[in-house]
Amino acid sequence: MSLSRFVMLVVIAGLALAGCAKPPASQAISRGPSGTHALITNSILPASQPITQQPMPQRIFSGGHLGGRTLAVASTADIVLRPGEVVLTFDDGPRPGKTNAILATLDDFGVKATFLMLGSAAQANPRLAQQVAASGHAVGSHTFGHVDLGNLSRQAALNEIAKGERAVQLALAGGGQTLSPFFRFPYLSQTGFLRTNLMQGSMVVLDVDIDSKDYYKDSPETIAARTLQRLEARGSGIILFHDIHQRTVETLPLFLAQLQERGYSVVRLVPKEHGVFGRDLITADAPGLRGTL
Ligand SMILES: [Zn+2]
Repeated sequence: MSLSRFVMLVVIAGLALAGCAKPPASQAISRGPSGTHALITNSILPASQPITQQPMPQRIFSGGHLGGRTLAVASTADIVLRPGEVVLTFDDGPRPGKTNAILATLDDFGVKATFLMLGSAAQANPRLAQQVAASGHAVGSHTFGHVDLGNLSRQAALNEIAKGERAVQLALAGGGQTLSPFFRFPYLSQTGFLRTNLMQGSMVVLDVDIDSKDYYKDSPETIAARTLQRLEARGSGIILFHDIHQRTVETLPLFLAQLQERGYSVVRLVPKEHGVFGRDLITADAPGLRGTL
């Protein structure tokens, strides 16, 4: 067994103990030639690059308004953040008692986030899923049952992704809401085949730049400080939280207050195309129809 394989197995074992979406690759840290920490992932495309050559964010961008610009996204490559900009993402919900509290905090700070829901959780809590979308947040999917897709056959993995999408979409449809094409791999466990396949299907794979590690049993203060520290080192990025933990509920107000104080802004992601997915429009080639879209 190679060392990297061993490390991966150890991390996956730790993941099982942690019980949730701990990206296995996030623990595999090595020192690059420049002395900086490099994140090793098995993705065929890298996560958005750390902004190390750009100046740190100025402390006053927006006069204390945390809500930033809205970014219309048709592909992963469209998610280009400026220094001082963050995207908030919440995985694994919705969960009664937790997701509601997260929504209230996001409202308090006037910011919008992206929720990557499990099909199983959305199916069990459709009203809550609808409430998230009705509050103006983007709702994407995260498989049906939080499966490590890297362990499945290609077809089984695609089926699991589609099952998750359908369940979230069905839950949202009950409230007249639609699913956004955002997707995140559970455990960030992906293959080149799956990633390419999803992207060709007009799905937007959301990577993670900053992992709050809110699945560790640390205090809210510790989680907020750790996440902020990583953000400060990077300057911008997509931040991973989970709307299933009480400690995340308690961390979020602390973290957002610190972001506000330091002049960051929260970018809202929205699908560039309306409709369920962009591909619906791409294939609509009826004469006279295109001009109206
Ligand atoms: Zn997850």
